[in-house]
Amino acid sequence: MELLYLIKYGELSLKGKNRKDFEARLREDIRTRLADLSIRLRQEWGRMYLHPPGGDPAAQSLGKIESTLARTFGIIGFARSYAVAQSMDQIEEAALILAEELIASRGIRFKIEARRSDKSFSLSSYQICCHLGDSLSRHFPELKVDLNRPDWTIQVEVRRRVYIYGPQSRAPGGLPLGASGRGLLLLSGGIDSPVAGYLMGKRGLAMDAVYYHTPPYTSEQAREKVQQLAGILAEYVTGLHLWIVPFTEIQLKINNLARKEATTLLVRAAMMAIADRLARRHGHDCLVTGESLGQVASQTVQSLHFTGSYTGLPLFRPLIGMDKAEIIRAAQEIGTYETSILPYQDCCTLFAPQHPEVRPRIDRMVSVFRSLALEKLISKAVDESELSIAGRAL
Ligand code: ATP
Ligand code: MG
Repeated sequence: MELLYLIKYGELSLKGKNRKDFEARLREDIRTRLADLSIRLRQEWGRMYLHPPGGDPAAQSLGKIESTLARTFGIIGFARSYAVAQSMDQIEEAALILAEELIASRGIRFKIEARRSDKSFSLSSYQICCHLGDSLSRHFPELKVDLNRPDWTIQVEVRRRVYIYGPQSRAPGGLPLGASGRGLLLLSGGIDSPVAGYLMGKRGLAMDAVYYHTPPYTSEQAREKVQQLAGILAEYVTGLHLWIVPFTEIQLKINNLARKEATTLLVRAAMMAIADRLARRHGHDCLVTGESLGQVASQTVQSLHFTGSYTGLPLFRPLIGMDKAEIIRAAQEIGTYETSILPYQDCCTLFAPQHPEVRPRIDRMVSVFRSLALEKLISKAVDESELSIAGRAL
């Protein structure tokens, strides 16, 4: 009896070369993320099977495999499964192990579903179900068959070998990482931008992140918080690294020279210009921000038009149509919320004017930005950016 994971992946609409590319990237992503575990991956009929290392893998390895699969884009769901020979005794043995766990974790109402792709097996699907149902009820007298609303279902699939598995664990779905190229995410310490990164990752965009740091106005804790967020995001977005850009000189110059109402927007424009340069230098195909329409003064249509004009790259704002409540729910689900609400101040809140510009005139703002002559400082900031490895161990 062998323990393995059955992996189901999505985007059924993909065909031909796209599908092959999807599968190759998914395999590569899983292998990279579990590189220290010497797992084996096998693909068969639109499924993947992951074989854990060794004959009897440690619970810790299984925990790592499960938490990794649950965060792998492209996978819809997965299940711990037993593969046995075509023998009813062995099928029964595997089902008993699964049932014992499921009774403890989910309850006593159960159902068996069987499918027989290999018709040479002597029992029909219906006979397999009856046989297993009887045997489980004999071993665990508290069990009740419930075909309509079971607490859990055990699936039996008779192929060349027989696979027996319980309920699937959910994974995010979407496209495997890298299928849509590489982007650069503007990552602040707030709630929104990590969610934006997650959503783009789910569409197959591999990413690095950039954070604008304004010491001493923003504290070391604020930087650490962003690094921590980048680490959580890297649990989904494999290989995400964080650029930290020294931003104090630019922030101060804008503050000293510009009208107070315009500062936030000018700061955002400078951030966009720097991100554009960094992205082109390091081979990113697009930029991503956590902006959402109308959320704050710097995110009105006019404001977004102005700040967006400082990059010629495709600029994605995946939260554009989401409410704050929806964004918060998403942040809670992916695990960034608790870190995002830590109370360290960001430069933008610190320098924010009381009455920021809501509907700026683009031409006027562009000439104000030009008059600040930030070009040299922008180049310097790009040159002095530091790369930090965000990946946190799972
Ligand atoms: P929240 O709105 O939850 O405070 P936020 O990340 O959306 O967090 P905003 O002030 O709304 O913060 O900024 C809009 C977008 O600009 C962010 O989503 C982010 O992409 C980018 N941004 C803002 N400040 C920074 C920063 N210091 N470093 C990197 N990107 C930033
Ligand atoms: Mg925001």
